Amino acid sequence: MKNTITSLSLLVLLACFPVVQAQSNKTQIDPKKFNNPIIKDQYTGDPAALVYKDKVYLYAGHDEAPNDFNFYKMNEWVVYSSSDMKKWESHPVPLKASDFAWAKGDAWASQVIERNGKFYWYVTVEHGSVPGKAIGIAVSDSPTGPFKDALGKALITNDMTKFANISWDDIDPTVYIDTDGQAYLFWGNTACHYAKLKDNMLELDGAIQHIDLPHFTEAPWIHKHKDWYYLSYAYEFPEKIAYAMSKSINGPWEFKGILNELAGNSNTNHQAIIDFKGQSYFIYHNGASIPNGGSFRRSVCVDKLYYNKDGTMKRVVMTSEGIQ
Ligand code: CA
Repeated sequence: MKNTITSLSLLVLLACFPVVQAQSNKTQIDPKKFNNPIIKDQYTGDPAALVYKDKVYLYAGHDEAPNDFNFYKMNEWVVYSSSDMKKWESHPVPLKASDFAWAKGDAWASQVIERNGKFYWYVTVEHGSVPGKAIGIAVSDSPTGPFKDALGKALITNDMTKFANISWDDIDPTVYIDTDGQAYLFWGNTACHYAKLKDNMLELDGAIQHIDLPHFTEAPWIHKHKDWYYLSYAYEFPEKIAYAMSKSINGPWEFKGILNELAGNSNTNHQAIIDFKGQSYFIYHNGASIPNGGSFRRSVCVDKLYYNKDGTMKRVVMTSEGIQ
């Protein structure tokens, strides 16, 4: 009997050992190879990126909502920089919603652009006296700040646009300087607005226009690659990213479909698209990547972006590995 038990035990042991070893190998994935999210020390959302000289500067809102709080709690923006898209250096907080005396909070989506050695930061905040969201501008001599209010008032207030009858349609600015030097501001929620900016980057130059895009929700981002202009944006809700293309920044824009699917565990999906050192990148946020993440505790991620020969963009593949 004893021998039988021993033989059985040996058989069981021999039978199980290869399986145990295989499972053990399967779970031995080095977490250091998971480069997404790229910001791991705090929750960040609404990324924008600026390529300046030999670095990429990443700007984002700081998601400060505690775990039992189910809306945005955002009081400041943050900046990180990288020379290789893998290692990200943290910098001191360069700008807070409270730096705009006319605003009463909500450090929502933003973008920084450089012109003539100055850095202009277009931001969404809640206006203190004109009900609704508004767009302000901060300026600095350095891409990492500190930044200060450039105007002492809002550039865009909710009452300046009537294309959508909501108080939060004037959000999510994206700014672009065309090859002829003309600057443009695009922004919006529900309705997509755009206007020219004067050379000083601080005043509108002409009337506010409106663009019709299928299922436009928010988060427009303008970029150019080779001969094409691209207007990508958050599509439907929960949000995917879709895009349109044009040979002119003034349109007409041709809708090209979905670029990025729903981002994990986040009802928003906010993109920045850049070329850096010969590679294109898609920068976004999700709510999936670090403990207690979600729609109000987001994390910024980066994956590579590829174009087809006809200029259309290939669907983004969101990965845990990120940029290796
Ligand atoms: Ca409005």
